[in-house]
Amino acid sequence: MAKCPKCNEVIFHLELYERAQVQYDLGATQEGEPNYVQRGIIDLLIDGDAPKVIRCPRCDRRLFTDADKAAQWLVGKIEWQEPA
Ligand SMILES: [Zn+2]
Repeated sequence: MAKCPKCNEVIFHLELYERAQVQYDLGATQEGEPNYVQRGIIDLLIDGDAPKVIRCPRCDRRLFTDADKAAQWLVGKIEWQEPA
C-alpha cells in the first residue's frame, strides 16, 4: 500500500503521460468542412528512456519521471525521492 508523499492519500496506481501522435483519416463534409475520423495513437518512441510525467491520481502532483522506479515504489521496494 503506497501513500502519496505529497498529499498522504493511499494510492494504488499512478498516472503516466507521454507524447504521442494521433492519426486521423481526413475527409470532408458536403459543405467542404474537414471531417476527422480517429484511427489510432502512435507512440513517438523517440527515446523510450526519456523522462516521463508520472503523477499522483489524487493530487495531480508529479512524483516520478521513471516508470521502473515508480513501480518499485508502489510495491514498497524503494523509498520515494523528489524527482530531479
Ligand atoms: Zn498525491
